[in-house]
Amino acid sequence: MRVLVVEDEVRLAEALRRGLQAEGFAVDVASSGTEGLSLAKQSPYDVILLDIMLPGINGFKLCSLLREAEIWSPIMMLTAKDGELDEAEALDTGADDFLSKPFSFTVLLARIRALMRRSTTSRPAQLSVDDLVLDPASHQVHRRATDIELTAREFSLLELMLRRKGEVLTKSDILEHVWDYDFEGDSNIVEVYVGYLRKKIDVPFGTKTIRTVRGVGYLVKDD
Ligand code: CA
Repeated sequence: MRVLVVEDEVRLAEALRRGLQAEGFAVDVASSGTEGLSLAKQSPYDVILLDIMLPGINGFKLCSLLREAEIWSPIMMLTAKDGELDEAEALDTGADDFLSKPFSFTVLLARIRALMRRSTTSRPAQLSVDDLVLDPASHQVHRRATDIELTAREFSLLELMLRRKGEVLTKSDILEHVWDYDFEGDSNIVEVYVGYLRKKIDVPFGTKTIRTVRGVGYLVKDD
């Protein structure tokens, strides 16, 4: 899943990028409100983390501009102090949640997971198709009694497909959610990763979880 971090404090922004990437997220960082606005208009983010004191457009203003532009990605504001005023204002401008700095990375991750659950139509803590189960919190995948080891990218791809179960995903849908803005290769990378995933989740079990919809994309649905 893809996250936009709008934060001008370079060290915090980089720590967030590294930490979230290690958890399998695709991460883009904007260091000003203006840059954040332009990135958010270009890509459908699954979550936006938004600092308040920013050069250019501040976080409150950016939040309301995003909602005016009908960008409905869940937004978590990172407030500098735990002033009630900040928090009330954050929610009033259309943010979904807030977290006061300094925060623990574990708490941040749990809150991001909760926001992503809220934003999908069905909200299971565990995602599944037939007997394949993916647990976003513990980062584990298993089919029947067998644990399946996936790389961070494969995990992220499978998580997207399970969250959007029953929908046909085009290659560009997949690229937008699983790869970050720095990715400049072509969309054949999606085919390559679908191939990796099939070798791990389907081939050993004789199943066909990921279906190819010719000329359109990929579909995962229950049998
Ligand atoms: Ca700041």
